[in-house]
Amino acid sequence: MAFSFLYESLAQNGENRGLFIDSTMALLPILTYPDRRLHTVAKPVAAVDARIHQLVQDMLETMYDANGIGLAASQVDVHERVIVIDVSQERNQALVLVNPELVWTSPETHLNEEGCLSVPGIYDGVTRHNAVHVRAQDHQGQSRVIEAQELLAVCIQHEMDHLMGKVFVEYLSPLKRNRIKTKMLKAQREDSR
Ligand SMILES: [Zn+2]
Repeated sequence: MAFSFLYESLAQNGENRGLFIDSTMALLPILTYPDRRLHTVAKPVAAVDARIHQLVQDMLETMYDANGIGLAASQVDVHERVIVIDVSQERNQALVLVNPELVWTSPETHLNEEGCLSVPGIYDGVTRHNAVHVRAQDHQGQSRVIEAQELLAVCIQHEMDHLMGKVFVEYLSPLKRNRIKTKMLKAQREDSR
């Protein structure tokens, strides 16, 4: 294992919330596994317009509030290809990926400890490419290629899976996955009491 981290759940709570912060933001409810809506395949964004700006702002607010390092629109029940990420310690380097496409993946892979805001409290190993190049539009609709490695590369792969309707626990054995499903459903029943 090259390195290990608690993905999407770094215990950081910085005041500096990065880009695009304003008073019109709203916290969005995060879908939790095994909600079927998490398995919806996201559609491409046709135009990075005011609606997408608002979505990005709300997703950033939601991600920072949950102490996450990444959030896909799928997780807030919006099935369009939008991802927000901030892997910085200072929580001030927001990255917005609209319509991301992997253009290169390293042949080298490593096992990585991951978690997910949609599967709270669960961490397990997933094999990921060490580095990826991803083409995406930013929050202004500008297209560029981002060369990512280590934590950022893993985060991008994890979030792009969400856009394809895939949650990281689906890489685990059916036995483990069923255990997690049971645990999640029990926690959700207890929460709703
Ligand atoms: Zn996730």
